[in-house]
Amino acid sequence: MKQLIDKLKTEHRLTKEEWITLIENRTPELADYLFVQAREIRHKYYGRDVYIRGLIEFTNYCKNDCFYCGIRKSNGNIPRYRLDEDTILSCCRSGYDMGFRTFVLQGGEDGYYTDERMTHLIHRIKTSFPDCAITLSIGEKPYDSYLEYYNAGADRYLLRHETFNETHYRTLHPPQLSASNRQQCLWNLKEIGYQTGTGFMVGSPHQTAEHLAEDMLFIEKLQPHMVGIGPFIPHHDTVFAGEKAGTLELTLYMLGLLRLMLPKVLLPATTALGTIDTHGRELGILAGANVVMPNLSPRDNRKNYSLYDNKIATGEEAAEGKAKLIRQMESIGYHVVTARGDSLMDV
Ligand code: SAM
Repeated sequence: MKQLIDKLKTEHRLTKEEWITLIENRTPELADYLFVQAREIRHKYYGRDVYIRGLIEFTNYCKNDCFYCGIRKSNGNIPRYRLDEDTILSCCRSGYDMGFRTFVLQGGEDGYYTDERMTHLIHRIKTSFPDCAITLSIGEKPYDSYLEYYNAGADRYLLRHETFNETHYRTLHPPQLSASNRQQCLWNLKEIGYQTGTGFMVGSPHQTAEHLAEDMLFIEKLQPHMVGIGPFIPHHDTVFAGEKAGTLELTLYMLGLLRLMLPKVLLPATTALGTIDTHGRELGILAGANVVMPNLSPRDNRKNYSLYDNKIATGEEAAEGKAKLIRQMESIGYHVVTARGDSLMDV
């Protein structure tokens, strides 16, 4: 097994069978070996810096009905909200004053936010904070919409492919959504010039080691700038209310493998990781991650952006807890930096 990790570290690719073997036969000892290698690579390219992104969850309206997601359209039990442009700008202002130089605008697929409204918003943020990067995470759109946002000043786009396998994809989504369209969106985003992020949930219902192997092969082919992975966590108002959550252990292992496959990738220790374990984020950094995304949304709205149960929103993962985040990262030998934190993939 160690030889496979060494091979991944030098060649940055494995066959499907090798991926399956490495995932199915993992042990705590092998994971420790992997994390040492992953940290070595991470330090080589990004040192001990931890990039921070200010996450603004600006709408929880969504036209989609993904079976796992708490803000799916058929969940009638959450109050819906959307932030107006001035409120979003004031989130950016307070984030800027706290040292954030990237704003991530994430939301459900909300028809209120037309291309015209999005481009207006992007342009306003960009002119108010010219030294900042804007990341969008607003789902599947036509090529021309992505192009308009890019021309208005958006720099990056996060769109997890969720799972590469079409059959597995269909067990997680209603039939209107397809793995192939999601993947095509990612190719479009790359072609336009975005720093593009994909990713998947670890331990989603019906997921197998073979599915994870296919995810790794897809990511190797796409060569994204960012990869966001986190454990699946059930939400009580969804189809998957009774399903088991993904584990910390497998999520950390996949983070380590991703660092070896894509040495320069931007790899967040996600909110979901911090939700299943109090020290999830620090452990994520120690497994090879180099980004954290504290929440800049107004406090009152955070509880309603409820993708899964018990989502954390008030501790060090919240922007006002930045001092604690800094201390936590220092305690494991890493430093939170004030920088745009662009990907080194194209350098
Ligand atoms: N609408 C945009 C999109 O489709 O990409 C962005 C918002 S969507 C809620 C952001 C991510 O949340 C999804 O890509 C999914 O992986 C994650 N997510 C949703 N429900 C989840 C759950 N129950 N557990 C873990 N992650 C979840």
